[in-house]
Amino acid sequence: MQFNLTTAELFVPDGLSGEQALARTTHLCLAAHQDDIEIMAANPILTCFQQKDLWFTGVVVTDGRGSPRDDLYKDYSDEDMRVVRFVEQKKAAFVGEYAAQVLLDYPSKMIKDGSNKQAIEDLVKILKATRPQFVYTHNLADKHDTHVGVALKVIAAIRQLPKDEQPQKLYGCEVWRDLDWMTDTDKVPFDCSAHESLQMALVGVFDSQIAGGKRYDLATMGRRKAHATYFASHGTDATTGLSFGMDLTPLIVDPAKDPGVYVQEVIQRFEKEVADRVGKLR
Ligand SMILES: [Zn+2]
Repeated sequence: MQFNLTTAELFVPDGLSGEQALARTTHLCLAAHQDDIEIMAANPILTCFQQKDLWFTGVVVTDGRGSPRDDLYKDYSDEDMRVVRFVEQKKAAFVGEYAAQVLLDYPSKMIKDGSNKQAIEDLVKILKATRPQFVYTHNLADKHDTHVGVALKVIAAIRQLPKDEQPQKLYGCEVWRDLDWMTDTDKVPFDCSAHESLQMALVGVFDSQIAGGKRYDLATMGRRKAHATYFASHGTDATTGLSFGMDLTPLIVDPAKDPGVYVQEVIQRFEKEVADRVGKLR
């Protein structure tokens, strides 16, 4: 498969041809950076793990050149970091038994540019080659520009597909902001109870980021445990790990719906819930 950048890569852990590997995909995650997939999409990775008919494919849109670095990586050039992060992402794809892993290699500034359509063209190609039932990307209330840039390009790409080629569901997931604040009726809970050691391995292979001074491994597992316990105030915990998603499917069902307006409506429902409770108890 040819992408816009000749440096883009398609990695297939079990060695199947690229075309066959992508075609078996049922769950597709489109993320900004190396490690975002493993932070935000553990549930679909676990759902597909060791299943004959369910396959997870990961796509990382950016190049990893601007990553923070410390410890044994502190003197690495931007190009060295790119190589390290590509290798780490492939390690995760191997550990998680992904159908395929695509690395599109775009500089972040191209993704933060709303007028740049190159990545959208690649995403359309990937969506056509994979025909997934379920698509996962960043949520629209994330606080990282590149993450929201990817989410908007994913929405734009899906909107270009004929209706019968669109996924059943599109979810925005948690990295740089939890979705714990959303009203419970807006939250899509993703059970992350199974295979805890595999989840830890998936976030643990990104040594260049963790050694860079950020314990994403511990923070990610901690967030899943916190969500599991704090989701419901009554009764015992139904899960031992939980992630939350923002349902973005209405944005593909109605292509005229503005993503900015859509996320504002989610925030307004949160605002009303808080105001109503304080008003009721005052
Ligand atoms: Zn990221």
